[in-house]
Amino acid sequence: MDGQRFLVTGGAGYVGSHLVLTLVQRGAQVVILDNMRQGHQAAVPDGIELVQAEVGDRRRLAEVFAAWKFDAVFHFAALSLVGESMRDPLRYCIDNPSNSLILADAAVKAGCMKFVLSSTAALFGFPKQIPIDEDAEVAPVSAYGESKLMAERGLAWADRVHGLRSASLRYFNAAGADPGALIGEDHEPETHLIPLAIGAALGTRPPLTVFGTDYPTPDGTCIRDYIHVLDLADAHIRVLDRLTTASCRYNIGNGTGYSVREVMDAVERIGGRPVPHELGPRRPGDPAVLVASSAKLRAETGWTPRFGALDDIVRTAWDWHSKHPRGFDDRA
Ligand code: UDP
Repeated sequence: MDGQRFLVTGGAGYVGSHLVLTLVQRGAQVVILDNMRQGHQAAVPDGIELVQAEVGDRRRLAEVFAAWKFDAVFHFAALSLVGESMRDPLRYCIDNPSNSLILADAAVKAGCMKFVLSSTAALFGFPKQIPIDEDAEVAPVSAYGESKLMAERGLAWADRVHGLRSASLRYFNAAGADPGALIGEDHEPETHLIPLAIGAALGTRPPLTVFGTDYPTPDGTCIRDYIHVLDLADAHIRVLDRLTTASCRYNIGNGTGYSVREVMDAVERIGGRPVPHELGPRRPGDPAVLVASSAKLRAETGWTPRFGALDDIVRTAWDWHSKHPRGFDDRA
């Protein structure tokens, strides 16, 4: 990727920083735009340009696009908490689509015609069929899912009228960390299963609450499709070639589901310690099973996950959290 330059919004956050690391390792130049409310300075590689700004700030965007010419934009910066979106739905439905489309508008005006959107499996709500492919009915059951759908729909119009080619990447459960433990997951608040289970095992977080044990699954707990952040990063880079001809959308997961209990078992196996936990009620809005079909992504881009096995994903997360028990704070 020598000689190519990319704008990565949210590049100091969890998934964005793993893409940045991958781009830099492959020889690309990167400019990060991040408001640094969720992002971490220590997640930004040395020598990488960091513009601290809001994605919806048209003036700053115009300056950024005037200062550098980009081969593509990767857009990660967004509100991303399902629970929060149900307490403040309008904030999600206003901020996520409008920021995405203001960014797309700035890209079009600058003649940067490739745009990769970080989208979500939350588009599919309570799916009728598993695994979920790209033709599954889109019917979000959270304002977060709706806000990403609105962004996707706006981008489709930008393609039709302006020729902005976009890839909407619907992530399932992003997990894991850089195997060198340079960067990893560090959210505040943390709501995701794997870091909470590891934190419980390490004693850096309270016991895990298992959200529901009466689902129609073999062990009664929810099944999800965990996908390693570096496999996600690789998918982002592979779709760029597709954007030469047309916009596209892909579901990205490993294609195998694991239950909450299976994840806890994996953490215990890898960490060699029990995961202290209690059994709780269901979390509202949680479907029993979410598993992706990534057949289209594999067939059209040659993508295959490097970290397909749950233990490989959990091992990288365990290494990160055990080396950085307070996340990035201990390196500040
Ligand atoms: N989960 C849980 N306890 C927690 C957090 C999550 O039992 O403290 C379960 C949750 O109900 C879901 C799975 O773990 O079935 C993955 O949840 P997460 O929030 O990590 O991702 P989501 O699937 O909601 O995007």
